[in-house]
Amino acid sequence: MSERTASCLCGNLKATARGEPEAVYLCSCLDCQRKSGSAFTYAAIYSESVVTTSGERNTFRRNGDAGRFVDTHFCPACGVSVFFHAEGLPGMIGIAAGCFTDPDFAQPSRLYWASRHHHWLDLPKMVAREDTQ
Ligand SMILES: [Zn+2]
Ligand SMILES: [Zn+2]
Repeated sequence: MSERTASCLCGNLKATARGEPEAVYLCSCLDCQRKSGSAFTYAAIYSESVVTTSGERNTFRRNGDAGRFVDTHFCPACGVSVFFHAEGLPGMIGIAAGCFTDPDFAQPSRLYWASRHHHWLDLPKMVAREDTQ
């Protein structure tokens, strides 16, 4: 079974996942734009049972649109957000797909908050667009 490790910039905070993710998506909500400093986040959702994490972390809790929290875990040294837990996804862990630095990583199946996506961005047709999350 394949194993991939997502890492922050300095290498302190890591998440290692066995097998393939349950879901892969992009999100263009305003929080994700700020969090990533980019036009969208690119996230992979795994069952917590196949992921091990290591390294020192800080956690920032924000409340999503449905009033449920999302805990983003980031490296205290370099500030990169490597993984997150969402109240709406019990038993699961989300990993920032870019932190795997794997060009063969699974493509996203949908874009959440498509209504807020940057207009220059033209996504492949196989990426479904959802107006909310
Ligand atoms: Zn770091
Ligand atoms: Zn978002």
